[in-house]
Amino acid sequence: STPVATFCALTKAATSGFLIKTGDCLETLAKIKIAAFDKTGTITKAEFTVSDFQSLSHNINLQHLIYWVSSIESKSSHPMAEALIDYARSVSVEPKPDMVENFQNFPGEGVYGRIDGQDIYIGNKRIAKRAGCLTVPDSEADMKGGKTIGYIYIGEELTGSFSLLDGCRHGVAQALKELKFLGITTAMLTGDNRDAAMSIQQQLGNALDIAHTELLPQDKARIIDEFKSQGPTMMVGDGLNDAPALAKADIGISMGISGSALATETGDIILMSNDLRKIPKGMRLARRCHKKVI
Ligand code: ADP
Ligand code: MG
Repeated sequence: STPVATFCALTKAATSGFLIKTGDCLETLAKIKIAAFDKTGTITKAEFTVSDFQSLSHNINLQHLIYWVSSIESKSSHPMAEALIDYARSVSVEPKPDMVENFQNFPGEGVYGRIDGQDIYIGNKRIAKRAGCLTVPDSEADMKGGKTIGYIYIGEELTGSFSLLDGCRHGVAQALKELKFLGITTAMLTGDNRDAAMSIQQQLGNALDIAHTELLPQDKARIIDEFKSQGPTMMVGDGLNDAPALAKADIGISMGISGSALATETGDIILMSNDLRKIPKGMRLARRCHKKVI
């Protein structure tokens, strides 16, 4: 291979905010056949707005519930947390993270914390099991016009719920269409519910060939393994829950600005601007360079 061609391509890519860590990555990038994307924070902006928040228990005052939830979420770095804190403040509730004990994060599921003597679990329907509740919300409860749903358990009891709305990043549909034009199969892997995933698929005008939903971090990694048996596979992600899949993929691309530190460390390529259109662009560059090399 010619080191000069590789060097030039790496430099050119880097100038546009597409940081390829090694020359080997560039070569692999030229051969990619399947591109998998995380949803929240990768395809979407992860700028959530809370659209409703309700208490499901007569004994629990809504303001109190918002106070507990926002205090626990203050300990989380998930983008949903930020929205819940803003929401609390908008209804004159000030979260108090210092009041929370034993905080725990369950990637792809939600969070737990103890506050005012209450054990509180917040997350998607998987969190029911963590709370020790045997009845999991049915899929109908999960359908709220494509929103991400949060369930609140106090002890084993479902005591509240909320929903949040997110939007696609600018240029995502174009990025996916260009990838398809390059002969690449596109997929979305998400920990979120089916309804939210379907709404994103529709917004993208069916530029996604495949969507897998309600995944845990290890499920994302397992699906990447399955894709790899069909061809060289790339994974694009931002979160803690993407790290195993980013590591498994032939190429891992992490979102540079908003991505978690773990995702950035694990990735082979860092997308500095969070603009997914840089991916097909980088791929064309890699293919051109690879042709020169061989
Ligand atoms: P994606 O795989 O699309 O990036 P996320 O990383 O956002 O999905 O996590 C998957 C799901 O886990 C979320 O949709 C949410 O239901 C739940 N979840 C994760 N973190 C939290 C949190 N801090 N509070 C509530 N729910 C959470
Ligand atoms: Mg994510």
